[in-house]
Amino acid sequence: MSARVTVIGTGYLGATHAACMAEIGHEVLGLDVDPDKVAALRSGRVPFYEPGLEELLAKHVATGRLRFTTSYEEVAEFGEVHFSCVGTPQSPGGNAADLRYVDAVIEHLAPLLAGRNALVVGKSTVPVGTAERLAAMLPEDAELAWNPEFLREGFAVEDTLRPDRLVFGVRSTTAEARLRAVYAPVISNGTPVVVTDFPTAELVKTSANAFLATKISFINAMAEVCEAAGADVTLLAEALSHDTRIGGRFLRAGVGFGGGCLPKDIRAFTARAGELGVGRALAFLREVDDINMRRRSRVVDLAREAAGGGFLGRRIAVLGAAFKPDSDDIRDSPALNVAAQIQLQGGNVSVYDPKAMDNARKAFPTLAYATSAEDALSGADVVLHLTEWQEFRDLDPAVLRDKVARPYVIDGRNALDAGRWRAAGWTYRALGRP
Ligand code: NAD
Repeated sequence: MSARVTVIGTGYLGATHAACMAEIGHEVLGLDVDPDKVAALRSGRVPFYEPGLEELLAKHVATGRLRFTTSYEEVAEFGEVHFSCVGTPQSPGGNAADLRYVDAVIEHLAPLLAGRNALVVGKSTVPVGTAERLAAMLPEDAELAWNPEFLREGFAVEDTLRPDRLVFGVRSTTAEARLRAVYAPVISNGTPVVVTDFPTAELVKTSANAFLATKISFINAMAEVCEAAGADVTLLAEALSHDTRIGGRFLRAGVGFGGGCLPKDIRAFTARAGELGVGRALAFLREVDDINMRRRSRVVDLAREAAGGGFLGRRIAVLGAAFKPDSDDIRDSPALNVAAQIQLQGGNVSVYDPKAMDNARKAFPTLAYATSAEDALSGADVVLHLTEWQEFRDLDPAVLRDKVARPYVIDGRNALDAGRWRAAGWTYRALGRP
């Protein structure tokens, strides 16, 4: 059954959610405070790179089933169910989540909802306890639910239409029934639904991210040990992955995790545990964070060594700027962090990424940017592979051999074919391998 759904905050999560809500048959109104974003979305253009999203958006904008606005009045007037999808970044100068955007949504919406019997659904990743506080800000006949989002950038559409599970944090059977109705086409595909209270729903998301970050840092810690012991972490991971209790996903050693979620989420989770008096329980997440950040320094150290002990007068090619492939998101990107460190130490850095160049230029205007991978490599003393785009895996090391000053590649993602690069005359180094 079609519902009138609004999506407040149309960034990576919200724009995807809005287009997918239209795809499963709802009338959708998206709202953002950024008028440029709204103008782009209205014209059927996604203001960031996400495979498959623009087609979906354009299709539903064209039929009028998906519209965008900057007006909260229009949203309150139109919607039966309101999804809040605004950002929860790390607080400036602290580890806790900055809840000003989440709060602003309720502050704007609450006074407009009286008498409308609306359901407000939080999707942002928030510290446990936030939903209870926000629920108290709504008028009596409006209800809150918490429905955390697990989508992965690069697979956002697929993950929204066919998620691993849906989590409904609710206080009433009415709220649960309304969420089941909105997601009916997704649930009928066989998606499991877990119905919980508010705090459990909030914690499912933060603990999922804590687990994923821990798994990555676990294999990166093993990489540190492998480096000291002369072992090969890629073979170690392969052997571990045959144990179905461990599994192979998120077990690739490399320069570590970044992006707009894992780093800030594990810090906010640690900060919140401290406030709750259970800081000890999550003390290990600090170590997870430390291991992760040490991998970036390790790449810089390997690059310096490869450059002959110092970066002055050396050309360093950096392949990758996005925090992961198939996305243009550069928030807390290991690739750009490494590039900036090397530039600070006097290196001539040339960065190339298939999709994230505009975002990278805005965030790091003093780095030099190339027009292609080949252009970045031209005359390089050291090549760093830091975001595992397919385009980089497909590069022909034999052709590139003649473009560089010295054929030296450091594979920060353990994703290039080491044998092929070595056979083409390159010195190939990778994290956690001899
Ligand atoms: P984002 O920064 O891309 O998008 C947030 C949007 O909210 C922006 O467009 C911003 O202009 C808008 N906004 C800010 N204040 C507003 C207000 N008062 N009213 C309306 N719009 C407002 O962030 P994102 O990556 O989409 O993340 C949003 C939330 O989803 C975060 O809590 C994040 O942790 C969580 N999340 C993100 C992902 C992901 O892969 N990006 C996955 C799961 C969960």
